[in-house]
Amino acid sequence: MEREKTYVSPEEINRQRNYMESVRALNEGMTMYATERTYGCQQNEADSEKLAGMLEKMGYILTSDEQIADLILINTCAVREHAELKALSVTGQFKHLKERKKEMLIGICGCMVSQEHRKEDIKHKYPYVDFLFGTSMLHRLPEIVYLRLKSGKRQFYLDGGEGNIAEGLPVRPESSFKAWVTIMYGCNNFCSYCVVPYVRGRERSRVPEEILKETENYVRSGFKEITLLGQNVNSYGKDLPTALSFAELLRKICAIKGDFTLRFMTSHPKDATKELIDVMAENEKIAKAFHLPLQSGSDRILEKMNRHYTAEKYLELVDYARQRMPDIALTTDIIVGFPGESEEDFEQTLRMIERVRYDNIYSFIFSKRRGTPAAEMDGQIPPEVSAERFERLLAVQTAISSEKNRNYVGKTVKVLVEGYSKTDRSKLTGRSEKNRLVHFEGPESLIGNHADVKITSAQTYALFGELCTGKETE
Ligand code: SAH
Ligand code: SF4
Repeated sequence: MEREKTYVSPEEINRQRNYMESVRALNEGMTMYATERTYGCQQNEADSEKLAGMLEKMGYILTSDEQIADLILINTCAVREHAELKALSVTGQFKHLKERKKEMLIGICGCMVSQEHRKEDIKHKYPYVDFLFGTSMLHRLPEIVYLRLKSGKRQFYLDGGEGNIAEGLPVRPESSFKAWVTIMYGCNNFCSYCVVPYVRGRERSRVPEEILKETENYVRSGFKEITLLGQNVNSYGKDLPTALSFAELLRKICAIKGDFTLRFMTSHPKDATKELIDVMAENEKIAKAFHLPLQSGSDRILEKMNRHYTAEKYLELVDYARQRMPDIALTTDIIVGFPGESEEDFEQTLRMIERVRYDNIYSFIFSKRRGTPAAEMDGQIPPEVSAERFERLLAVQTAISSEKNRNYVGKTVKVLVEGYSKTDRSKLTGRSEKNRLVHFEGPESLIGNHADVKITSAQTYALFGELCTGKETE
């Protein structure tokens, strides 16, 4: 893809800024509320922060209360059928709000509606949806809202092309201490089960200058944690005019002065390098937490998945990472019930899990995605077989996660305090560098800051502790 065509032109961004002003003028004198519902991955959350930034500039006040909203925007996911059904059901629930408040706008965007058949569904079965736009049309939200308000006509913007990069859009971060920084968009890998390359276009990297500028701004504003995002961060930079590897980009970001932790996701094992692991080991700012999606422990299934690595190659990476960082936290994604997965294939996955001893796994039952090769493969696994394997997988991992958590008792961990615990308002809650959920008592002033917490007890998915000034951290 030609780089200059990848970028949305500054003129086009200006045009959208003018539309923001025009919508603001239409809303003048009224108190207008907007609410967003976001499904799916961190990239969608990052996109929603941009959409919120644009809505704010259009004069909307962001709220979480749909009852008072004048505009509802649903940012959808398409990775599994469950995510699609959820977004459709939520859209359906908003129908009665619109009946009560005719002038309210309902918009839908993101990966699900970037598929032609879903766009048609929305057009015909959800007549109360006012506008729809695909992932590459995100920057045109102001124009779309303006045209909907002015013309009264429904707006559908889908281009399904190779994707673009839009710089210079306003952003409204959800948090005042944790930020997402997208380093690249799209995916070229076409894993045979995955819809992402079809709905998010080809890989395209942002230039390092923009990434550094954005990260520096966050660090200067006191953000404590930056997470770099990309579907496969290890192929960062391959499309840049002056090539720069992901490891080199990490080095540049680590050189930014300030107290912050750097995380990144997702790393594809086929492209993860020893150099990347070295950079992690050498830089204190990078969290010693590595998400490395395995998907399956069977080479036969990995090949059918089009993953381009073997279990052995994967283990080499794990062993090297542990050699360089003995207490690194490892997490992974697993798909259960991929077409043709035999009991033996599945047992190989279980063996890998026992061998690697992940801190946590994110496991999913294979979901057929229209247009992907795996949806048409022979040997689709009956739901009851997948469900049974899924339970066995969870049981194996739960035992490992529990044991790993018990080992924290007596240790002191550094926690980024996120707020009060939802289940126990007397406690603060946060995440350790290794992404463990930690609950403890402490003053409100700690929210948004780091705190040292001595762990006193552990459950499978949470640690409990006491605030301390101890020196020994995890
Ligand atoms: N780009 C990232 C993640 C993309 S989607 C990566 O390559 O790791 C996140 C996870 O959803 C995937 O790792 C995979 O485990 C899961 N997933 C993707 N498509 C799926 C499908 N059709 N059915 C079930 N799980 C799926
Ligand atoms: Fe999907 Fe594979 Fe790309 Fe990840 S690397 S987004 S799983 S196609």
